[in-house]
Amino acid sequence: MGNIISLDICGQHISMSNGLTSVFISTLGLSGTRLAKTDDEKRMIIWLLEKDQSAIGSGTVGFDICEMPWNLVSFYAAKCFLLNVIEGAKRKIGWEFLDYQPNEELLFPCFDQFYHLISNVDTNMLNPTTTLNWLKDCMETPKDPVMCGYPCCQKHPVFLTIFGCYLCNN
Ligand SMILES: [Zn+2]
Repeated sequence: MGNIISLDICGQHISMSNGLTSVFISTLGLSGTRLAKTDDEKRMIIWLLEKDQSAIGSGTVGFDICEMPWNLVSFYAAKCFLLNVIEGAKRKIGWEFLDYQPNEELLFPCFDQFYHLISNVDTNMLNPTTTLNWLKDCMETPKDPVMCGYPCCQKHPVFLTIFGCYLCNN
């Protein structure tokens, strides 16, 4: 069992065990929450943090880069933001809030591969319907944190999702 993050259109993917996936999302969530400024950026990180195996099942949180909530208008800014978030995760932003020490030998190559996938995605590969559907789901859930000013966990500096805090859950 494990999870696959892909950029299918380019035939590229990252394969991670369930445990490594949790560390990957946690560390990107810590970096992303620290660095996100705009609504688009905050939503992108919350979308990632919704890949919560404790809520939706182990080995079920893989995704394709094209399914991420890209906004065509701010596409290049969002791409640049995500690359910064990956670099921030490699600088261990917020790692003091983890109650374990991530295995860098396993984790960092995944960051490098993710960086590569994000670098390769372009506007002509996107499926704007997936973004619209996700936003529509958020808007139809009045308690969704995306609709409530992007609150963070009281214990951890990460955005809450409809499933709660990724770090508390995992
Ligand atoms: Zn928490």
